[in-house]
Amino acid sequence: MIINRRHFIGAAAASAALLSSPAVLGKTRPRVVVVGGGAGGATAARYIAKDSKGAIDVILVEPTRHYYSCFFSNLAIGGFQPLSKLGHSYGKLASDYGINVVHDWVTAVDRDAKTVRLAGGSVLSYDRLVLSPGIDFVEGAVPGWDVTAQTKMPHAYKGGTQTALLKAQVEAMPEGGTYVTVAPPNPYRCPPGPYERVSMVAHILKQRNPTAKILILDPKEKFSKQGLFMEGWEDYYPGMIDWLTSDFTGGVQRVDPNTMEVVLEDEIIKADVCNVIPAMRAGRIVQQADLTNEDGWCPIVPATLQSRFDENIHVLGDSTVNGDMPKSAYAANSQAKAASMAIRAALIGSRTFKPRFSNTCWSLISPDNGVKVGATYVATDEKIAKVDGFISQNHEDAGLRKRTYEESLGWYTGMARDMFG
Ligand code: FAD
Repeated sequence: MIINRRHFIGAAAASAALLSSPAVLGKTRPRVVVVGGGAGGATAARYIAKDSKGAIDVILVEPTRHYYSCFFSNLAIGGFQPLSKLGHSYGKLASDYGINVVHDWVTAVDRDAKTVRLAGGSVLSYDRLVLSPGIDFVEGAVPGWDVTAQTKMPHAYKGGTQTALLKAQVEAMPEGGTYVTVAPPNPYRCPPGPYERVSMVAHILKQRNPTAKILILDPKEKFSKQGLFMEGWEDYYPGMIDWLTSDFTGGVQRVDPNTMEVVLEDEIIKADVCNVIPAMRAGRIVQQADLTNEDGWCPIVPATLQSRFDENIHVLGDSTVNGDMPKSAYAANSQAKAASMAIRAALIGSRTFKPRFSNTCWSLISPDNGVKVGATYVATDEKIAKVDGFISQNHEDAGLRKRTYEESLGWYTGMARDMFG
């Protein structure tokens, strides 16, 4: 349901559960409400609470009690990580950092009143609002598919049950069956994600079902770390994976989740497993708050991550259009720290420094065969701009690839600690 400002004000006025602003209650502590307890939101909440030493009241609103990361979910599909290890609770953010963690959905933002409404009926006021709700899918992007089809044709682009479902489907594929990836157009969450996933699926099929085939139906002409993936696929999974661009297939015309058919211009493919990853846009709440551009993403002020449309709201992570940074957990975490610094400066006068941003995206192609791409960035007036970057090389020795994989394991542990304490 879309809630516009008129509906919102009416509902808010009727709400018995208005949580008044600190000023109304005679308190002096400014309040930050953070929406979304993922890579951007959890990091922002923790850094604001930790670095303000209790001078800022932080409320984190997140519907789920356990955050299951998308990052490393491909490794769970490949059997390299138990899915249970990707689940994280918010307990420490509450107990060790004094963050008020509220498990609910934010259904509307009233930018004039500086309040958010929760599905449970409460209304929270804020001095600054942080929105980091991740992505949602563009409706109708893949004709025949909508979220009700996700139990048959999973996207597995939000963590947890979708990952478990896709993994189970791969493991149950009939001998010699066909696995299809419907890849998304740019821009989307985790550029190497679909291709690392194919590598992990191929790893499983090679052991259990070596005559199975994998088709990638891609609207793009090229993709992240393409040379590295292609080399790995040839070396480890020869003859198993076909990457077909829309130039060749005419593009996916529609899918039928009931018959498991994928219809191309001149051909119908019968899939045994079909991973549909539709086109994406900013999380719904950013759209409802009227903070998106015509492409469905939120433009931000690079140094502070403030929305270009509302200086009291900071938008982080996948929902933003920021310039050169990809949509990754590493990037969202890096942006959260810059936003946290700006918010503390605005609310309690803390010192600020020029933010520097960084990102690395690791991918596993086969056992102990890790590759990476990354960069550092600075904030210019126009965008978060890349300064310098690096990428793994083709034909690297096995020892280096193993160390790259181990580095990624260390990153995950550090990242989880940085988000959840
Ligand atoms: P999220 O982490 O998705 O957090 C959003 C949160 O907001 C969710 O918990 C959601 O429940 C909550 N939310 C949404 N709407 C509301 C609302 N209205 N009210 C309250 N809460 C709300 N990144 C890497 O850096 N490295 C990797 O190796 C990597 N691998 C990936 C592999 C895959 C298969 C995928 C799909 C992604 C991967 N990523 C990786 C990308 C990474 O997961 C995302 O870029 C990152 O999670 C974005 O952070 P975020 O804060 O924007 O959104």
